[in-house]
Amino acid sequence: MITTALIVAAGRGTRAADVNGLPKQYRPLAGAPVLAHTIRAFCSAPSIDLVQVVIHPADAELYRAAVQTMVPKMSPPVPGGETRQGSVRLGLEALAVHAPARVLIHDAARPLVDANTIARVIGKLETHAGSIAAQPVADTLKRASPGGTITGTVDRAGLWRAQTPQGFRFAAILDAHRKAHLAGRTDFTDDAAIAEWAGLDVALVMGAESNIKLTTPEDFVMAERLITPPRATAETRTGTGFDVHRLIPGDHVWLCGVKVAHDHRLEGHSDADVGLHALTDAVLGAIGDGDIGQHFPPSDPQWRGAASHLFLADAARRVAARGGRIINVDVTLLCEAPRIAPHREAMRASIASILCIDILRVGVKATTTEGLGFAGRREGIAAMATATVVLPT
Ligand code: MG
Repeated sequence: MITTALIVAAGRGTRAADVNGLPKQYRPLAGAPVLAHTIRAFCSAPSIDLVQVVIHPADAELYRAAVQTMVPKMSPPVPGGETRQGSVRLGLEALAVHAPARVLIHDAARPLVDANTIARVIGKLETHAGSIAAQPVADTLKRASPGGTITGTVDRAGLWRAQTPQGFRFAAILDAHRKAHLAGRTDFTDDAAIAEWAGLDVALVMGAESNIKLTTPEDFVMAERLITPPRATAETRTGTGFDVHRLIPGDHVWLCGVKVAHDHRLEGHSDADVGLHALTDAVLGAIGDGDIGQHFPPSDPQWRGAASHLFLADAARRVAARGGRIINVDVTLLCEAPRIAPHREAMRASIASILCIDILRVGVKATTTEGLGFAGRREGIAAMATATVVLPT
């Protein structure tokens, strides 16, 4: 039962563009492109298995830069169509090979979507073919004349403002989109409208006031405020980690999630990735949540030969569960060989991907110990790491 997210980022939406003329989904917001925030929201939702983004064909480079941390849940982007409706249909066709049970369709320009809204939309798909996030209209509605004077008051009872995500049983919404396409209908303003036209029952679930669609420059200012926690309610924590593994005869080592050819391998119960082990302890240390050996005892046979990214991803989940965010991490490897420099960028990308953070927040360095000590004698490799997180107080 696969649940997918389809993020529509193919628009040219330059109304809120900055001086560089960037489409709004690539404009920076609190240190990352808008689209990166949106993708992260779905990648970190536990019930989302796969994230598909539809982009404008001219934006491939912008997309690569925005999503340089290739997250495990991500499917390669697909090009969109002339209209939003066309782009959604092409995205659904691309997802069809995975035969998902459900899809949540979401606008790239709503980066503040929260985990509870996503969960509510998915939950309602148990009983309905469609389920959309929406907000009941709270303001009194007025109808205006062309001259700007009131000609009437509209009854707001039962009126809701539709947001995204809009979730659907996959086969039903793909079928509805195909039918609308064949019928030459291109005038639907959201996917719920297509579902209604196709006769699907679509439920409303409570969205969030903060789930705004970024349109004007003022929206960006407001979103920036909502993302950045006030100083008074957040605090910065730092953790450190250290690890050593012995070198024994072999043909490769795992370091920071990257397989590096070498004339020895590292001995250990798991894949013995000394860099990821030190970093896992640093992340756990920053939130005061024990250490890697406590959560993944070497005595437990299920971790024999385990890939160490599991340990680091678990530490990241523990940070997220506390409402925290990883600000930066830094790893130093101490060894005479292998040479780290040729693999440094791959290691940074690997760590960024596991932690779901931007690669610019990841440091990987290496040093020798001038031939001194166990590392100098090539008997083992050591790693040190630090991690900085912000936590709500
Ligand atoms: Mg270790």
